[in-house]
Amino acid sequence: MHHTIEPAASGRAGCKGCGQKIAKGELRFGERLPNAYGEGEMTLWFHLRCGAYKRPESVLETLGRIGDPIDERAELVKLAEEGVQHRRLARVDGASHAPTGRAKCRYCRLPISKGDWRLSLVFYEDGRFSAAGFIHAACAQDYLGTRDVVARARHFNPKLSDEDVAALEAALAADD
Ligand SMILES: [Zn+2]
Ligand SMILES: [Zn+2]
Repeated sequence: MHHTIEPAASGRAGCKGCGQKIAKGELRFGERLPNAYGEGEMTLWFHLRCGAYKRPESVLETLGRIGDPIDERAELVKLAEEGVQHRRLARVDGASHAPTGRAKCRYCRLPISKGDWRLSLVFYEDGRFSAAGFIHAACAQDYLGTRDVVARARHFNPKLSDEDVAALEAALAADD
């Protein structure tokens, strides 16, 4: 079966992209995959925006096939196209201060100093997202091919304040 975009039948399913519930009646993206645990298929559900960020190719394909009116269609297409253009972007799962100096940057391999801004990454494989470490905010351009990640980071870390976002933007712009 094709991937789908349809209203959530209940409010029980969690979004695979952000972990939050998808409200009943809200349009959601369903990615169909062979069932890893048996016969048939399984469906991974996402908020539309979470799907556009984290499963951009599947969302683009589905938006192209489904002609129904979708409020945010143009925005979703734009987000998903960015993810197709910069393939590692879909790995970005948020931004935070490093709580310790122990983690190393996946790109430059140097430690991420305590308090520095970092982007957290996830890898997607066989229908599962798994934590994949961090990069320096300053390494975003080289690792991701773009430093335009603030809206995405804030989407997955909605607690970031305006001050945090300003600091993150400064860290992203720093080249070291
Ligand atoms: Zn979500
Ligand atoms: Zn780095």
